Amino acid sequence: MLANRVAIVTASTDGIGLAIARRLGQEGASLVISSRKPENVERATKELQSEGLRVKSLVCHVSDAENRKKLFEEAKSFGGLDILVSNAAVNPVHGGILDCSESIFDKIYDVNVKSSFLLAKEALPLLRKSKHGRIIFISSISAYYPHILLGAYGFSKTALLGLTKNAALQLAPEGITVNCICPGHIETRFSKVMRSSDDMLKEELTNIPMGRIGKSEEVASSVAFLASDDASYITGENLLVSGGFSARL
Ligand code: NAP
Repeated sequence: MLANRVAIVTASTDGIGLAIARRLGQEGASLVISSRKPENVERATKELQSEGLRVKSLVCHVSDAENRKKLFEEAKSFGGLDILVSNAAVNPVHGGILDCSESIFDKIYDVNVKSSFLLAKEALPLLRKSKHGRIIFISSISAYYPHILLGAYGFSKTALLGLTKNAALQLAPEGITVNCICPGHIETRFSKVMRSSDDMLKEELTNIPMGRIGKSEEVASSVAFLASDDASYITGENLLVSGGFSARL
């Protein structure tokens, strides 16, 4: 489905990002994977290569302009870029948005929103040369349904919905699609805090009609669809992958 395509997936050495990279690779794409810690990059690279996938990897903190530049250089060495998946996010605090300090707010905005904007902008020269240009942002269910413990993070994820709509409108005439996935509660290290007690887990499950936490692979399959030719006429959409969290009026 994605043979001869090149994909950059940020924050792709663990959790949802790693699952997305693996799935795009299984569909035939060549992969550029990255994250902040060299040991994670090395481990994930070995893992994916041992599965027979075509992988180049590097250390990339998405807020670092020089690091981001290298992502595109690696993609070029594969022949170009067709798919950009902007997946990195941080959530250093838990609490209401107005309790967030300015410095933490800046950090959340910088990693979760600004780096997605910059990556999309910087990817454009290469995506414009592709016949199948795709930008996919990873937002969150908390973009739609604010959670009191995830105030500033939720705000940042809502901002990505707007980035998706605006960029999609601008790039539609060029045939580059821009879409966004909003995962619900997915079992990763990042979301562990939301399952840190039996009571919290019970409360979480009460809000999920399917009655279970999702898997990273269930997010990855939606990304693979949006990256494929099957999704060639879909742009500007925000797709919830949340076990029915939003299946209410
Ligand atoms: P995760 O399992 O904790 O994995 C995070 C990955 O991001 C790791 O590879 C980490 O590696 C890397 N990373 C963290 N900060 C980075 C940065 N500034 N630059 C580059 N890489 C960075 O997290 P996850 O649950 O898969 O989350 C992935 C995305 O899904 C995030 O955008 C998150 O907001 C979204 N999401 C998750 C859930 C959920 O329930 N899990 C729900 C909704 C949305 P290093 O430590 O080596 O950098």
